[in-house]
Amino acid sequence: MAAYLNDGMLLYLDHLVDWDTYFRWTKGDDADVDTEVETLRVIAQTAAEICESIAPEAREGWEEAARLEDGEVAVPGHIARGYERLREAGIVSFGVAEQYGGVALPGMVGNWVLQMISRADAGLMTIVGLQAGVALDIQEFGTEELKQEWLPRFASGEVQGAMDLTEPQAGSDLGAISTLATETGEEGRVTLDGQKIFITNGGSEVHLVLARDADTAEQSKGTTKGLSLYLCPRTRPDGSSNGVAVERLEHKQGIHGSPTAAIRFDGAQATRLGPKGEGFKAMLQLMNNARIGVAAQGIGIGEAALDEALQYTRQRVQFGQPIAEQPLVKNMLSSMILDLEGSRALLYRCCALIDRNTAIDARLDRDEVSEAERAELESIRERNETRIRLLTPLAKYAATEACDRITRSAVQLHGGVGFMAESVVGRLHADGIITTIYEGTSEIQVSFALKEIGKGAMHVVFDEIRKELEGLDDSELDEYASKVRAGIEQVLQASSALMADFSYALLSARRLADSAIDLIVGAELLKHARVDSRRFDLAASWINRKMLEVEMNARRIAEGDVSRVDRCERIISTFESA
Ligand SMILES: Cc1cc2nc3c(=O)[nH]c(=O)nc-3n(C[C@H](O)[C@H](O)[C@H](O)COP(=O)(O)OP(=O)(O)OC[C@H]3O[C@@H](n4cnc5c(N)ncnc54)[C@H](O)[C@@H]3O)c2cc1C
Repeated sequence: MAAYLNDGMLLYLDHLVDWDTYFRWTKGDDADVDTEVETLRVIAQTAAEICESIAPEAREGWEEAARLEDGEVAVPGHIARGYERLREAGIVSFGVAEQYGGVALPGMVGNWVLQMISRADAGLMTIVGLQAGVALDIQEFGTEELKQEWLPRFASGEVQGAMDLTEPQAGSDLGAISTLATETGEEGRVTLDGQKIFITNGGSEVHLVLARDADTAEQSKGTTKGLSLYLCPRTRPDGSSNGVAVERLEHKQGIHGSPTAAIRFDGAQATRLGPKGEGFKAMLQLMNNARIGVAAQGIGIGEAALDEALQYTRQRVQFGQPIAEQPLVKNMLSSMILDLEGSRALLYRCCALIDRNTAIDARLDRDEVSEAERAELESIRERNETRIRLLTPLAKYAATEACDRITRSAVQLHGGVGFMAESVVGRLHADGIITTIYEGTSEIQVSFALKEIGKGAMHVVFDEIRKELEGLDDSELDEYASKVRAGIEQVLQASSALMADFSYALLSARRLADSAIDLIVGAELLKHARVDSRRFDLAASWINRKMLEVEMNARRIAEGDVSRVDRCERIISTFESA
């Protein structure tokens, strides 16, 4: 079994991130970078040890669901104890700045922690992940007063958070939100009225609520304009209830320990985060963090399923030998590993860019930056932002769909045992499905990616990759770098034809997203192979397999047109009328 703090992560800790720049820019020129990196290692190792130790109890208690008792949410024992272990070790709300009592972990390392928690207990991860995300949003958009009030309590683990977007009529389409925010007369203070559904950890103290401002509700109806983001606690300062009621908890197919609540707001007092009417933008920040978090969840669940599949196929004997010796099984196992490592590579590439921009922001906040340096850093920041906007939905889509395939293959490799109600891999598969649905479904992720591609983001991403590939010339990796270069040209040609017709583009969004992912991952895996020769086969195999798919997808896109949408409609109506 690969360790929880594994090679896939250590590559970035030890080789692929420029920690020197990160820490000098975030902490100042006198930062002791070696000590800082060692601290990251200790934190990641501690998280790994805790997560490894809580996994058996989480597997054992998988069926136990969160309960609603007298209006309060009670989580199962494995969730409560797992949370307490992490809290005691100071590994909750890990993005909170040091001045508010946090550890300000780089996004990449925070992401590893979420993966490890998911690998042990996917339900617990939702609670820790949302808590960290809500704290980050308060840190980004809250006033100093709000930060002082809430962030130390998040950092200590005393309070948890929930993100309240979804309503019965507003799922993927957040423009349909109707929860109303009515101004009280005091600047930024409102009362909230309405219902939210499917709210993870809805029993927590702090709710970040996306609501429609009552005074502009008529004009803004049906759009994401006129929405603001509000911080709404469940308790008023005098200790009384704030009109935030948990109406019910849902029964689900997986992540039973994670409470999923319907929430009623009834005159609940709330404070606005960020400018009025720009709540969707602020919430996007939280959602993008959460998307990266759900991608981590997909990786963590996928790793757990791979552990089980590797162990089982080594010990299950058929035809006189372990089934792991069968070529078909070897191929399935190695494909699962490729799927996992490929989506991991994309996710870490995205995390590294986010951390790079955090470091640039910190650098720009310093007085000593010259005008010329400021202009250069701002331009790099802008390009990175463009790349992050494309990579975030791609990373969420790739990791969660990979999780679905990996857990399904793990069930298959267990044969009939995998289909039993108590099968661990069956349960991991059930847990994994939700990752492709919440924080925006896979269809919404590829549609978001398509929008960014339409604005030119793919060119920016591919330009960077071309530069990276130049560094591989004259090495044994050059042959593979050339294949990636050729793939880039094929996809660029196909996509420029596609963008001329948005309906056809939407039909092909998955195909285009898959191709972009295959190419970005190919380049990232080559970087891995350059610093660790043991990873050569992984990169070579990915590129050999995926560049064929890239070529096929490019041809399918180039040869089709919008009439394919009509054909889909005809197929559906023929089936319905048969
Ligand atoms: C366990 C769980 C926890 C959750 N936690 C939270 C939470 O903490 N906070 C919160 O606010 N919400 C939460 N949600 C809600 C979740 O984010 C939504 O379920 C999700 O965004 C999808 O919305 P929907 O269920 O209304 O599906 P719909 O929007 O009705 O979508 C149904 C299908 O239509 C497809 N579809 C919809 N629009 C398009 C389009 N434009 N193009 C292509 N396909 C499209 C979707 O991809 C999907 O396949 C949670 C949900 C669950 C199940």
